[in-house]
Amino acid sequence: MQHRIVVLGAGYTGAVAAGRLARRLHRADVTITLVNPEPDFVERVRLHQIAAGQDLTPRPFGEMFAGTGVELKLAQVTAVDVDSRTVTVTAPSGPEREELAYDTLVYALGSGWNDGGVPGTAEHAHDVSSRPGALRLRDRLATLDAGRPVVVVGGGLTGLEAATEIAEARPDLDVALAARGALGDWLSHKGRGHLQKVVDKLGITVHESAAVTAVEADRVTTADGRSIPAEVTVWTTGFAVHPIARATTLEVTERSQIVVDSTMRSVSHPDVYAVGDAAMAIGPNDKPLRMSCASGVPMAWQAADAIAARLAGTKVPHVSIRYFQQCISLGRKEGVVQFVTADDRAKDSALTGRVAALYKELICKGAAWGVANPTVGMPSRRRRVVRQDARSRAQAEAAA
Ligand SMILES: Cc1cc2nc3c(=O)[nH]c(=O)nc-3n(C[C@H](O)[C@H](O)[C@H](O)COP(=O)(O)OP(=O)(O)OC[C@H]3O[C@@H](n4cnc5c(N)ncnc54)[C@H](O)[C@@H]3O)c2cc1C
Repeated sequence: MQHRIVVLGAGYTGAVAAGRLARRLHRADVTITLVNPEPDFVERVRLHQIAAGQDLTPRPFGEMFAGTGVELKLAQVTAVDVDSRTVTVTAPSGPEREELAYDTLVYALGSGWNDGGVPGTAEHAHDVSSRPGALRLRDRLATLDAGRPVVVVGGGLTGLEAATEIAEARPDLDVALAARGALGDWLSHKGRGHLQKVVDKLGITVHESAAVTAVEADRVTTADGRSIPAEVTVWTTGFAVHPIARATTLEVTERSQIVVDSTMRSVSHPDVYAVGDAAMAIGPNDKPLRMSCASGVPMAWQAADAIAARLAGTKVPHVSIRYFQQCISLGRKEGVVQFVTADDRAKDSALTGRVAALYKELICKGAAWGVANPTVGMPSRRRRVVRQDARSRAQAEAAA
């Protein structure tokens, strides 16, 4: 009997986990099923580029996983039953339902946009957190005449990247950014200074201390009563995880992230692992890891290595998960690479300008390449699964 591993979601973390498991475990011993609604890999960190009208390199999973043994199941997950160990999926194009049974589950469904419950957001705002959302925004921007106002709400990494990308691609539009605090207030002096320079050069109006409390078809309103014209509103105030995990008996946080231990294993259900945006793991200095590729990909390495080790009855390795930098693209020609401490606080040093833009481009290319090459630089010896009864498995795990 083969051990059935089912991986939900083929974003950065699910795809990396599936590919790494396939290279760690002997093919005769396991089946690895990767469930995703789309047949190609979406470079989520570039969705603002799609919104600004650029086309990305297609990355079909069929090519990425050719010969690895990972079986892609094109389907939408609608429910998970962690007590009966089954996942309910529907075909992307129809209502047919199917149940997939698993022995080990890797939950990597990522996140979507977070409208924060602000009135009018769901009806009027656009987002760049999913490909359909980015394509919708791209179509809408294409209909705007010169001079029309676009407001990006959210002064975090996604908001900065979206506002600058749109302003660079469409210098004829009147682009504004509404930030809750001051522009780039978490960056170093150098990083902040450069950001301000680029934003000025691109003609972006920045509204600071602007907590948006309502979105209408032609404006947004802030808590202190400002009314900012907005023919298009782009909402980037953070991500929210999908509600599927909350509907299970898994232990989840208030934000519905699955609580995991340092090996990315659910603290309530040992046969479930969670990685990426969908998981709540503790990082350096006991701080929760941020929703990001930067920490999500090492989370996926850790989960895959822990699953492989536990199945093979060997010592569970420890993958170091820490931050090094925040790479912010500011259009295609400018950027800021803010170097950070292990727990993600800005250091004094930053790269800026064209070098930073190039650095960020290499990071994005590297992240996509890493999905297809998840064991690069490490031995990828395939281990045999050791058959154990529940008691001896528990003893082996306690010893490891
Ligand atoms: C515009 C933008 C720029 C960003 N820039 C950066 C950056 O520079 N650096 C950085 O570290 N992070 C960045 N991020 C954040 C980063 O993209 C996410 O943290 C990362 O993608 C999380 O990876 P994941 O695998 O958890 O989720 P995702 O990449 O979101 O993947 C989830 C996968 O699950 C699939 N899925 C979802 N629901 C279902 C379902 N019901 N059934 C089946 N499949 C489903 C999705 O289709 C997707 O393939 C950015 C995000 C955005 C939106």
